[in-house]
Amino acid sequence: MARIFCKYHPTVPARWTCRACGIDFCHRCMQAEGSDTPHCPVCHQAAESLGSGNVIEPFWQRLQAIFAYPLQLHPLLFMLGLTVLGVLIESVAGRTLVGWLVGEIVLYVVFLKYAYVVLERTAAGHLDAVPVTWEAIATELELPFKQFFILFLIYAINASLANSGHTGLLFLSMFLSALLLPASIMVLAIEHSLLSAINPVILLDVMRRIGPPYLLLWLFLFLLMSGSGEVRGMLLAYLPSAFAVPIGGLVSYYVTLVIFHLLGYTIYQYHEELGFHVEQDFEAEAEPEATPAIPGLREVEILFHEGKLDEAKDRLLALVTREPGEMAYRERLHRLLVHTRDIEGLRRHSADYVSRLLLHGKPSEALRVFTDAYRLDREFKFGDAKQRHRMAELLANNGQDRAALALLNNLHRDFPKYEGVPEAYLLVARILSEKFNQDDRARQVLDFIESRYPDSPVLGEVRTYRRVIEQVTAQGG
Ligand SMILES: [Zn+2]
Ligand SMILES: [Zn+2]
Repeated sequence: MARIFCKYHPTVPARWTCRACGIDFCHRCMQAEGSDTPHCPVCHQAAESLGSGNVIEPFWQRLQAIFAYPLQLHPLLFMLGLTVLGVLIESVAGRTLVGWLVGEIVLYVVFLKYAYVVLERTAAGHLDAVPVTWEAIATELELPFKQFFILFLIYAINASLANSGHTGLLFLSMFLSALLLPASIMVLAIEHSLLSAINPVILLDVMRRIGPPYLLLWLFLFLLMSGSGEVRGMLLAYLPSAFAVPIGGLVSYYVTLVIFHLLGYTIYQYHEELGFHVEQDFEAEAEPEATPAIPGLREVEILFHEGKLDEAKDRLLALVTREPGEMAYRERLHRLLVHTRDIEGLRRHSADYVSRLLLHGKPSEALRVFTDAYRLDREFKFGDAKQRHRMAELLANNGQDRAALALLNNLHRDFPKYEGVPEAYLLVARILSEKFNQDDRARQVLDFIESRYPDSPVLGEVRTYRRVIEQVTAQGG
């Protein structure tokens, strides 16, 4: 009965498993499209469902909530109302047949009908209390009578065995009827069919589908029923019967609602195994932290975890092609290219990514991505002249002078028409002089600007800067 958890999210119960790879996946790692079974992202074979029983919180871990169920406002008022009504009828009609019929039978039928509605709604995944409405009580009132009939049938079989003196058979029959009763109530609630609810084949199938937890369920029910009997016995022994009877009745209402809610919850927990449709989205409920991961990336992360880096890369390239504007795909691709030291890939894809980040007004991210690539590839370049120039300024501001120089190297050859070349080369001269003390080379760059771009608007600045260098050189020398 231990739950299986996702390999990649160890706190999330697994929803699917791949037998071939031996990997268990949660709902987040693998999302079924519509009603289709998803495929394993690693080996592409169809995955197998682990059943709702693995995903939904098991009933034995939420007993507190199950015991608290009848104490919510609606069921509590309903139980108290029926109890008061019972006392009133008793005091008015006393020991007449009408009094007995109304006080005992009618009230109990009404109550049992409500209990069945509780069971059905819980089975569909609604865990809040059912409001008491006329519709809930009055429609399909035959359900409690079907239940009475089943109980009568069990009693009749056991009584006839007892009379015939077959002690062995009697014990077997009593054991089997007790064992099958919870399954019978569940089947009656789901199918509303008396024949199904007494069909041993169907009942055994329900037990088999739920598996060993069925026995646990049975044990709980047994303890609840005998506990309730004990309490009523004690009430009668220690209290005057005017109090003991109604309080005892209240106790059995309470225990019945707990049992029906518990049976409903068991159907909900195992609804997939039982082939029962639920209304609540149990998969979303099973996700503790709601991190809305971008769908395509789940598969990529799994492939990455499994060391299938080439496949992860192919998958990312396909995603980038399909949705060129989705930066999360480009970011993941970039990190993968860095991880695999794929120089060719960096030059193609991360270069594009840097340009886009600059266009989107994200200079610090662009700087980070560029720096990642530059660390692996001193020749790394990207974008057009303007973008390189902008990046060189960012790099210089960030103290990455060598990278700035490398990026602006041969800018005038790569982009002969770029009008910002003089300004960019003035930056080169500044870096050479101020960061590397290469005044001679700085002067050569300034000469180059003056001779090559005599009409440039930055020429004034170039001349000023040359004088600064010359003064510094004169003082230093
Ligand atoms: Zn997962
Ligand atoms: Zn697989």
